Amino acid sequence: MAKHNICIAKGDGIGPEIMQATLDVLEALNLDIKFHEIELGEKLYLKGHSAGIESSSWDLLRQYPILLKAPITTPQGKGYKSLNVTLRKTLGLFANVRRSLSYDPIVPSRFKNLDVVIFRENEEDLYAGIEHRQTQEVYQCLKLTSKPGCEKIIRAAFEYAKAQGRKKVTCMSKDNIMKLTDGIFHKTFDEIREEYKEIESDHYIIDIGAARLATNPEHFDVVVCQNLYGDIVSDITAEISGSVGLAGSSNLGEKYAMFEAIHGSAPDIAGKGIANPIGIMLAAVEMLHFIGESEKANEFHKGILSSLEKGSMTGDLCKGSDNKALSTSEFAKVVVKNLGKEPQKLNHISKAQNSLNLSFNLSKQKQKKELVGVDVFIDEDNRNPVELAKRLNAAAKGIDLELKMITNRGVMVWPNYNPATFCTDHWRCRFEPSSGKVIRHLEVVKLLEKLADTELDFIKTEGLFMFDGERGYSLGQGQ
Ligand code: NAD
Repeated sequence: MAKHNICIAKGDGIGPEIMQATLDVLEALNLDIKFHEIELGEKLYLKGHSAGIESSSWDLLRQYPILLKAPITTPQGKGYKSLNVTLRKTLGLFANVRRSLSYDPIVPSRFKNLDVVIFRENEEDLYAGIEHRQTQEVYQCLKLTSKPGCEKIIRAAFEYAKAQGRKKVTCMSKDNIMKLTDGIFHKTFDEIREEYKEIESDHYIIDIGAARLATNPEHFDVVVCQNLYGDIVSDITAEISGSVGLAGSSNLGEKYAMFEAIHGSAPDIAGKGIANPIGIMLAAVEMLHFIGESEKANEFHKGILSSLEKGSMTGDLCKGSDNKALSTSEFAKVVVKNLGKEPQKLNHISKAQNSLNLSFNLSKQKQKKELVGVDVFIDEDNRNPVELAKRLNAAAKGIDLELKMITNRGVMVWPNYNPATFCTDHWRCRFEPSSGKVIRHLEVVKLLEKLADTELDFIKTEGLFMFDGERGYSLGQGQ
């Protein structure tokens, strides 16, 4: 039995080429590792596995919970779910850790001291993949944020900063607009930062935060954000460091870990032997740290850095320099020659990450939850909210719920209607008890029964809840 058992997936496009280059270096390191190959991605999608993975691969992953994965191609079109998202969520890989560094002057970058680590929440947010077309005109994607989800990624970011001796953790969110979903992320950050007073911390609204990250990245150290924002800002930091081909990522959870490059399968250059393997090589370095082989990880890392310093690089990094472009496999051979050689200029070696604690006692609080009304969403082509209100009021006669407001795409259009407001065929109609008290679900059922007796087409309902007396729903714009 080998000391380490690792699953590998060679992926699609440039995947097999950059994976082979990485395996060549791992072999030269003389580690006691057995690799178990699993098939993922395009081939399986095309064979009819809509998730891009078969059950035998899940079995292997259960047995050997560490995966080194090359990028895969998600076929265009409906019916295919992103395998990357499925893997991250099924394996509980809640933290996507992406470090970007400046390799200037070897790889020219405007930023000499860029060294930013993005902690991207990996399981929630718009990536829940819950989408519906509700009317002829309107499509919906649900943004789900959970308190434990926020707590885990934010704690992980602070724990990482502590373990790596980093100075600052920055949170980015858009809670000026999404007061509940982004609000809970920011609020949780504010609670947790109190427990890590030795580490500086601050918050940016994501738009200005991303702009500052792109123009002044040296100001940032560790950045923590929700899934979509994290995806975007980590590509920005990788790109301004010189190339998306340069960044690796670790996907970490309590039981599993997956290591990959941040870039995709680059079908435009697949099969040409010119892809840059550094992203997945750096992911393999992090994997070695993770399994407790930090000495070998540092040898590998130094091999990459000293090769770059000697001008050995693939074509994507040569632009604007006299360096000769190496092929993917030639670059791997140079790294093997330079294993363990101390780089002179690039001082990028990170400390071991295997001490990172990702198992947290999450706070639990049971709050009193009360139903105080309901939003009923209606599909109605007649764009006159005053008429719609009349029909709803007539339908709801005789029950203890009263129409209080109608919004269209979030803007209040009844009781105060401004004809300049553009209306779609998608209406949110808010009902609350006339007496302003708590209601039972039965009241909602009665309302729906009444609406079902009319021509009104209701799409869905959302309960309006109070939690310990605090409103758990947003007001209409203009309310
Ligand atoms: P991409 O990252 O594959 O390519 C973007 C550009 O960067 C291309 O011009 C490509 O040639 C270049 N590039 C990327 N990696 C490179 C490397 N290592 N060396 C040199 N140049 C490199 O992004 P895309 O074109 O938007 O996506 C292609 C496919 O990859 C899609 O099917 C997408 O779904 C998939 N994808 C997979 C992953 C993953 O498996 N983790 C991540 C992102 C995208």
